[in-house]
Amino acid sequence: MSNYHPLTEAEAIEIARSISGIFEQEGELLSREIGDGNLNLVFHVSQPSSGRSLIVKQALPYAKVVGESWPLTLDRARIESEALMIEERLAPGLVPKVYHTDNELALTIMEDLSSHKIMRQGLIEGGIYPQFAEDISDFLARTLFFTSDLGMNQQEKKLLVRSFANPELCKITEELIFDHPYTNADTNSFDSHLQADAEQLWSDATLHFEVALLREKFLTHAQALLHGDLHTGSIFITPESTKVIDPEFAYFGPMGFDIGAVLANLLLHYASQEHWSAEVSARQERRQYLLETVRRIWVSFESKFRALWDGHGTDRIFGTAGYQDDYMQRLLQDTFGFTGAKMVRRIVGLAHVADIDRIPNDETRAKAQRLALSIGTALIKQNRQATSIDQLIDIAETAN
Ligand code: ADP
Ligand code: MG
Ligand code: MG
Ligand code: MG
Repeated sequence: MSNYHPLTEAEAIEIARSISGIFEQEGELLSREIGDGNLNLVFHVSQPSSGRSLIVKQALPYAKVVGESWPLTLDRARIESEALMIEERLAPGLVPKVYHTDNELALTIMEDLSSHKIMRQGLIEGGIYPQFAEDISDFLARTLFFTSDLGMNQQEKKLLVRSFANPELCKITEELIFDHPYTNADTNSFDSHLQADAEQLWSDATLHFEVALLREKFLTHAQALLHGDLHTGSIFITPESTKVIDPEFAYFGPMGFDIGAVLANLLLHYASQEHWSAEVSARQERRQYLLETVRRIWVSFESKFRALWDGHGTDRIFGTAGYQDDYMQRLLQDTFGFTGAKMVRRIVGLAHVADIDRIPNDETRAKAQRLALSIGTALIKQNRQATSIDQLIDIAETAN
């Protein structure tokens, strides 16, 4: 019989105390639940006398969505722990250290990153992150390359694919990103002033065709081990440091899905500048910074990925003339498409982003929402024609 039950704060303390090498023998431990409680509990356990702390994250056996609960596998805690450990090995220093995993209790006990800020919040506060493009392009290039058939033994990869099947969480993504926004689904949620914009999405056959191709890729293209939920709420940041958290959606999918998640959230923030930078010249400057970050992420990712390919390709075939260039172009095209899909779902789908939802003025919010939809749909429609990141920048700059 399973020993699983949601932990109390006292139990979180007891478990934290049993982790060796963190806390001093003497000295009281305090525990605080700091998660948003929709899917997981997150306990911050600290010892004031030593200044030490850690995080206990526990998966809940259900998801609270639109006021209802539906069952959700606890196996995602194992997936999160294992993904974090693989990411730490491939991209050292860019994820929290895992101290302990307990699959029965669905726990990951890990490094406390409270010295960092969640990037979405940091951006809303106007933060500038000079190290971010360098770090996230490292994270993407290294985790994606070394878990793909390019940088990993293909037989080992097949076994790893099985252990990261993650069907339940993939189903959530499939529905919320590739299905519901394009039809009048009950789970959709949007401001009433967007009714006509939503209906436009529901009747756009050209858009539906491209989304069907992206969905197919999401379902069938087991290219590399993805983080699976790489938005700015899954990134802890300071001006000098970047840490990626929360890979419970990890599975083997198309690389562009992770790259697109990062770019989409920067572009959603770009759209939200209608409000957060009220003054025109400040807004222009902020938007330039965001687009420059987008460009640097792709350019750095591409050059790092090509260098890994040249230095670590596991097979003679990977030296085939023209193959690398073709691969990189397809990766860019996927990135355009998934960036767009991830923008659209945040405006009309179930889960939104604070950058836009927190804009208090209806008219300003509507303007930001329409800008995000316009950029997102253009990226989806043009994804298979993309040949340069400049086209993405251009789409963002000319959309309205
Ligand atoms: P969920 O899967 O429920 O979204 P997250 O892993 O994103 O859970 O964590 C939710 C919140 O808990 C984060 O936004 C952050 O505030 C806090 N948190 C999570 N992991 C850590 C950590 N390692 N250090 C400090 N705070 C954390
Ligand atoms: Mg959450
Ligand atoms: Mg999260
Ligand atoms: Mg999560």
